Amino acid sequence: MNAHTAPTAQRYAQACNDNHPAHIQSEVIYMPGPEPTNKVAIVTCMDARLDVFKMFGLKVGEAHVIRVGGGRTPDALRSLVASEHILETKEIMVVHHTDCGFMRAPTDEEAHTHIEQSLQKANGVKLSTRHLPIQVIQQGDLNRSVCEDVQFLHSSPYIRNDAVLTGWIYDTMLGTIKEVREASAISQEGKGAPAAGDRIARQTGQGILSTEHEVAASQRSLQQASA
Ligand SMILES: [Zn+2]
Repeated sequence: MNAHTAPTAQRYAQACNDNHPAHIQSEVIYMPGPEPTNKVAIVTCMDARLDVFKMFGLKVGEAHVIRVGGGRTPDALRSLVASEHILETKEIMVVHHTDCGFMRAPTDEEAHTHIEQSLQKANGVKLSTRHLPIQVIQQGDLNRSVCEDVQFLHSSPYIRNDAVLTGWIYDTMLGTIKEVREASAISQEGKGAPAAGDRIARQTGQGILSTEHEVAASQRSLQQASA
C-alpha cells in the first residue's frame, strides 16, 4: 500500500503523527498499565456512527472497547477471554443498536448469498462463506439479539463465573440507551453468583434489578419468550 492506493489510510496516519503524540503521552504515561481502570469490557458494533467514548463519557484507560459487526459476542470471544483472564476485567456490557447494518439481510442465508456474489464479482472466485458466522439481527429484534449474546457469554466456559454481564440497546438517532433487563438477568442464573441481582442494583444505583424475586420473574419471562 502507498499514498496512491490507500489515500484515506495515509491521511489518517498523517493526522495521527501531526496532532496527537504530545497529548497522548501526558494522558497515558502515568497510568498503571494496560489493565482498564474500571475493569469493564464493552462489546458493541463496528458501526461508523457510534462514538463509544462520547456515548459513555469514557476516559482513556477506563475500559476495553471491543467492536465487531452487530456487536455479536461470539465474534468478540477471543478478545473477551484475554480481557478477563490477562487484563483483569470483571464486567461485560453487550451493546447492540438501532438501524444496525446487520439488520439489512433478513436471514444469515441471504447475507451469505449477497457476500458470496460480491466476492465473486470482486475477486473472480466462487467461494463459500458459510463457515463464517454472520449472525444477522433477524427482524430487527434487538431484545432477542442482546439476550442471545449475553446468554452466549453466560454459557461459555471461558468466561468468568462471576462476571457481571449486562445487555443494552443504544438508539442511534436519539443517542440514548436502555437496559435489556431480561439479558442482564441471565448472568444471575447459576454459575454461583449469590444475590447477584441485588449487587447489580447497588452498582447501578438505579435499582434496575432490585430484588432476587424480580430477577427470577425476569428469568421466567425470558424462558417463556424463548419457549
Ligand atoms: Zn451495527
